[in-house]
Amino acid sequence: MALIECENLSHVYLKGSPMETVALTGVTLSIDTGEFVGILGPTGSGKSTLIQHFNALLRPTSGVVRVAGVATNDPKADLRAIRRRVGLVFQYPEHQLFEETVYEDVAFGPRNLGLDEEGVRERVDDALRSVGIDGSKFGQRSPFSLSGGEMRRVAIAGVLAMSPQVLVLDEPAAGLDPQGKVEILNRIRDLHTSRHLTVILITHSMDDAAQLTRRLIVLNKGRLAMDGSVREVFARAEELRGMGLGVPAITELVQRLRRRGLSVRADALTQDEAQRTIKEALAWN
Ligand code: ADP
Repeated sequence: MALIECENLSHVYLKGSPMETVALTGVTLSIDTGEFVGILGPTGSGKSTLIQHFNALLRPTSGVVRVAGVATNDPKADLRAIRRRVGLVFQYPEHQLFEETVYEDVAFGPRNLGLDEEGVRERVDDALRSVGIDGSKFGQRSPFSLSGGEMRRVAIAGVLAMSPQVLVLDEPAAGLDPQGKVEILNRIRDLHTSRHLTVILITHSMDDAAQLTRRLIVLNKGRLAMDGSVREVFARAEELRGMGLGVPAITELVQRLRRRGLSVRADALTQDEAQRTIKEALAWN
């Protein structure tokens, strides 16, 4: 069974008012347990609106969204259960930190679940460990005394402490310095590989999309423009450029070499692949 399914999903904000905005039109897609999916699209293409349907924060104006088989617009749907299953990390999640200590911030969700203090502690320690924050060292510090990257990891730990099955992140690396960015993306990769979390991630970086994800969904003007493997999507470079998007730097390089007449393959996604095809084209062993 698909974990998240959208069937002909449309979403209109402020319907019937002069400010009415159509954000999504007729989106049909399905995401299975264990996938690592990237969502791409120019600003305003509906990415944030789409992911808020994945945990029922938004409900379809028309069409259906099902999470583990439950339609989110079914009046009998248990929305709390859906939100526990699908953890949503907004852009700049550290702006939502509010408690006096790192421990209390991460403990907020599990406490609301009604766990006892021992259960809460286990959840907090585990969540902090999984984002690479030492609870014994940082637990009693103010979240606001941490670096930007650490604050963001604490905010993500707050979502992980709810033990979600799916982690949905809106541009998790936005605005971080290069080291903070690498650190956070590596942690997300670990959560996928060692904890088997299903991960869905909005990104503006084609390089991150190529290195992290296996499947890409591309939105344009609220419609599903592409849905395929990373290689399939980046092979459609011209269409992506037409939407104001690009391809990973390494793919751009081989495509330029190809236009200059070198017979390299145009779909190299990694440095290794690029090196191999360039060597082959140059008959360089
Ligand atoms: P993206 O995440 O790709 O930038 P969004 O889903 O944020 O796209 O926005 C899609 C469209 O919906 C845009 O035209 C945006 O202005 C509009 N929109 C987003 N959120 C709201 C809102 N809360 N109220 C009204 N319009 C909105």
